[in-house]
Amino acid sequence: MTMSETIKIDQELVHKLEKIPDPGELMAELFRMFGERAAIGTSGQWTGVALIDMVIRTGISKPRVYTVDTLRLFPETYELIHELEKKYNINIEKATPDFEAVSKMVREHGEMIFFDSKAKQEYCCKIRKVDPNNKVLDTLDVWITGLRADQSDARSQIKRIEIIQHTQQDGKERPLLKVTPLIAWTEEDVKDYIKAHNVPVHKLLEIERDGWHYSSLGCIICTTPIGAHETRRAGRWRWFNHQLKDDQKECGLHLLSKKKS
Ligand code: SF4
Repeated sequence: MTMSETIKIDQELVHKLEKIPDPGELMAELFRMFGERAAIGTSGQWTGVALIDMVIRTGISKPRVYTVDTLRLFPETYELIHELEKKYNINIEKATPDFEAVSKMVREHGEMIFFDSKAKQEYCCKIRKVDPNNKVLDTLDVWITGLRADQSDARSQIKRIEIIQHTQQDGKERPLLKVTPLIAWTEEDVKDYIKAHNVPVHKLLEIERDGWHYSSLGCIICTTPIGAHETRRAGRWRWFNHQLKDDQKECGLHLLSKKKS
């Protein structure tokens, strides 16, 4: 039995961790307590790269980090992952979709399934993102994410530390600690940190032309830049903008987080 298997995921643990205000120290404590059963999940956006830098600065030299590789990411995303691995001397795990599931989906619905309907977009996100992410969660007790409250109304409801119910592939349910160390930071706070600490940044996030810029990144085709007066997630699945608000445009990774009652 490993040490992490003896630690109970309960409110007592949440209260203990809530007493650590510094995000780097909070992650460091989690990695000390849970080792490989804790991981930072990142898609390489502002907050995720800051988290990696912060925890490494605390002396945790090999934090477990993973990314979901949908096999449709921008070349710049793969470049960033490589750059982060090199700079911090870490291996970033790539959680890829099940080959058979992708083949079946493409055979039945075609390559560009996400244009057809919201339901089909969610199906594609399930196969390419949510299922591979859940496979990683099967191996974790602590899931550290880079969400921020300022990203959308729905995300503003997320707590810094909470217990969610994770359904494993074998159907068993168990509590999982979901930790969002920078939930209260604004995008500007994170950018200031990144600049001050020389953290590698996704190249697309740094481009701005005539007010157009990327504010949220996902897969190629499903992600476009936004104009100066558009909402933060307007560039994601743009063809649904006439019918959906930002809050309704999620890939499902965080929507599926059921809170433990
Ligand atoms: S963002 Fe688009 S391509 Fe990527 S998994 Fe979702 S629907 Fe599929």
